[in-house]
Amino acid sequence: MRNYSEIENIVIIGSGPAGYTAAIYAARANLKPLLITGFEKGGIPGGQLMTTTFVENYPGFPNGIKGPELMNLFKDQAIRWGTTLLEIDAEEINLKTKPFSIKTKNELIQAHSIIIATGARANKLGVPHEKEFWSKGISACAICDGATPQFRNEELAVIGGGDSACEEAVYLTKFGSKVHLLVRSNHLKASAAMVDRVKNNDQIMIHWETELIDVQGDEWLNKLTIKRKGQLNNETINARGVFYAIGHTPNTEFLNGHLKQNSKGYLITKDGRPETSIDGVFAAGDVADSEWRQGITAAGSGCKAALAAERWLSKNNLASIISRGSKEPEKTKREGEIETSNENNFNFESLWQRGSYALRKLYHESKKPLVVIYTSSNCGPCHILKPQLKRVIEEFEGKVQAIEINIEDEQEIAKQADVVGTPTVQLFKSKTLIKQWKGVKQRHEFKNAIIKILEETSK
Ligand SMILES: Cc1cc2nc3c(=O)[nH]c(=O)nc-3n(C[C@H](O)[C@H](O)[C@H](O)COP(=O)(O)OP(=O)(O)OC[C@H]3O[C@@H](n4cnc5c(N)ncnc54)[C@H](O)[C@@H]3O)c2cc1C
Repeated sequence: MRNYSEIENIVIIGSGPAGYTAAIYAARANLKPLLITGFEKGGIPGGQLMTTTFVENYPGFPNGIKGPELMNLFKDQAIRWGTTLLEIDAEEINLKTKPFSIKTKNELIQAHSIIIATGARANKLGVPHEKEFWSKGISACAICDGATPQFRNEELAVIGGGDSACEEAVYLTKFGSKVHLLVRSNHLKASAAMVDRVKNNDQIMIHWETELIDVQGDEWLNKLTIKRKGQLNNETINARGVFYAIGHTPNTEFLNGHLKQNSKGYLITKDGRPETSIDGVFAAGDVADSEWRQGITAAGSGCKAALAAERWLSKNNLASIISRGSKEPEKTKREGEIETSNENNFNFESLWQRGSYALRKLYHESKKPLVVIYTSSNCGPCHILKPQLKRVIEEFEGKVQAIEINIEDEQEIAKQADVVGTPTVQLFKSKTLIKQWKGVKQRHEFKNAIIKILEETSK
């Protein structure tokens, strides 16, 4: 375990709109914040907006902006002003002694003040065969998994009656032949505009006062058992996919009851303010807000938390302020998307290429280990994983190559490769699949698997 020798001014836990906004404000106050982004315990780095398509209500973007793109901008801004990011989960926290301490898998960090911005995560239903069909037809993220080939032109279902459920149902009509929306009550709790979109879409069938009882299938889900209110017998409906949109639980487990929470687990703060039940600990965003739960409200509360922490540090004479070499930090630069390879631009030695042409060439002709990452354009976790994986590939200095396949553009390849969600990463050597990963994983998992292949080949 690495011990951070200095006591941090502010540690921010969580990298959604609340965490990044707090970081921007704390960094601009020259407090050099450390931000623990989270990794898998309570969502993914960037938070819930990484799992949505267009955010149309965040001020400043009149034409809307993709969730992952918005969160990458938040991140760039926080880094530009001097935030240090630690891509890991906070596992434990000790708020009984000062300075406070936070444990991750590898570090013990001490801090004078802490901002908790860990948001909330999607709930599950716990039906009997849920585990068996999780990722084989059941998903909690239509935006991430909707483009999967198994869902194309098939009947799909969404569970829930709020904004998320409605958004997901509308989104899924792009892929499925029909979308069943299973609503437990007799009305939709979504915004009026969203309700209109659902009701005016003839591909969506709303089942009022209906609950999911169980799921069935063989290799892949194919039926749902449902119960309608007032009916004695259960019914089955055909569906190859079911998407949960049934609310969220605040990510507070790692706090071990150190801070006051309400009956649903949300952190209690002073009325309209970010101070929690412990002096020097502040909360921002959805983790302390069971009511508004929006990007803009989370960002606003992140700002308040950072300003409150700054005042608290200065009042208690605890702030150690850094001084900047230059007034204006360097502007951020963004990497552009790479072109899809074809016979004219394909490069046998290139470390990272895109598309099935490059995949076929390297799969059949290259002797090097080959990493294939399957993505889809609106998949937030893919945005997290791609730069991580690129760094791993670069570290091997040409001994390994990677191909990116967008499963929306390359349906057949995704089907042949049995890809059932994005991101999926497959590692091949000499046309043999050595290992497969689903979802976002730590860099060392990919690295270790590649090292093992390289060691075996050099024997
Ligand atoms: C599908 C969907 C669509 C949405 N669309 C919109 C929209 O259009 N407009 C809008 O304004 N809002 C929208 N929202 C709501 C919005 O996403 C949330 O209100 C907002 O993201 C909350 O921000 P947050 O920073 O509080 O938390 P989150 O965004 O939930 O971020 C929490 C962060 O904490 C991290 N974390 C959790 N546990 C730990 C731990 N133990 N250690 C370290 N880190 C941890 C997570 O990895 C994550 O990075 C949508 C939400 C969903 C699910």
